Amino acid sequence: MSAHDVRGGPGTAPGQDTPDQDTPHQERRSGGAATRPESRELRADCGSCFALCCVALPFTASADFAVDKEAGRPCRHLGGDFRCGIHRDLRQRGFSGCAVYDCFGAGQKISQVTFGGRDWRRHPETAGAMFSAFAVMRGLHELLWYLTEALALPAARPVHGEIRQSLERIGRLSDGDPGALAEIDVAACRQEAGELLGRASELVRAGVPGRKKDRRGADLIGARLRGADLRGAGLRGVYLIGADLRRADLRSADLLGADLRGADLGGADLTGAIFVTQAQLDAARGDSATRLPAGRTRPAHWARRG
Ligand code: SF4
Repeated sequence: MSAHDVRGGPGTAPGQDTPDQDTPHQERRSGGAATRPESRELRADCGSCFALCCVALPFTASADFAVDKEAGRPCRHLGGDFRCGIHRDLRQRGFSGCAVYDCFGAGQKISQVTFGGRDWRRHPETAGAMFSAFAVMRGLHELLWYLTEALALPAARPVHGEIRQSLERIGRLSDGDPGALAEIDVAACRQEAGELLGRASELVRAGVPGRKKDRRGADLIGARLRGADLRGAGLRGVYLIGADLRRADLRSADLLGADLRGADLGGADLTGAIFVTQAQLDAARGDSATRLPAGRTRPAHWARRG
């Protein structure tokens, strides 16, 4: 199992081959989310979802999940009202993976649009198709989120036209019915979006003076990178679990899909860092001195030590 296979990780980055693995939740977002209105539908709205991540997804007992759970079986902590019974204590109860999961709005779309508000409890005949569709939708919405982020990067303007076309194409796919969703080749969509995001990244990082490090996909688990100059670095899909990134310069770095679980970002500068999700920050550690990319929120659990 790779680090990306563990719930609470960054999920599958566009352009990477690793299959999606996700984490469940319920009313536990630390805020997060982009400020652009067009990305609102790409944020989890647990109150409009039938707790799909708490049922459809499998858990493997680990530091992120206290127990094993099969796909399609409701979590033992899920209430009849589709709310988590321990959502205030997820981290303390060993479910930190739930605390950082983001479906990018796939849950409410499947619940309210694709299945028209028919939930899997009152309509158990829909459960199998609904859970399968959720996995597809989550993959599509993740791509839509990244592509929307790329549209907000002025330096990436040369590829904005193609990005808009990709957004429209993938957006149309996400509007399909359960049968149509089942036919979608999410890996091909990921390949297409990943190529565009890579070009956007290069354009952004080309504007950073000096030689930029490229550590794409590197294993930097537990690495000592305190104060490291990673400005404009290519850190796509890097494993930075538990890494010491205190006071690192990560300005304009590409952190798409980087696994930051337990990484210490105390005092680090992520100003202008691209493709950083709220879930990545939620899974990391940091402090009041950490400088965040625009549109991201300081996680409530970060220590105030800066
Ligand atoms: S612990 Fe709560 S948020 Fe996590 S899967 Fe169970 S019900 Fe959902």
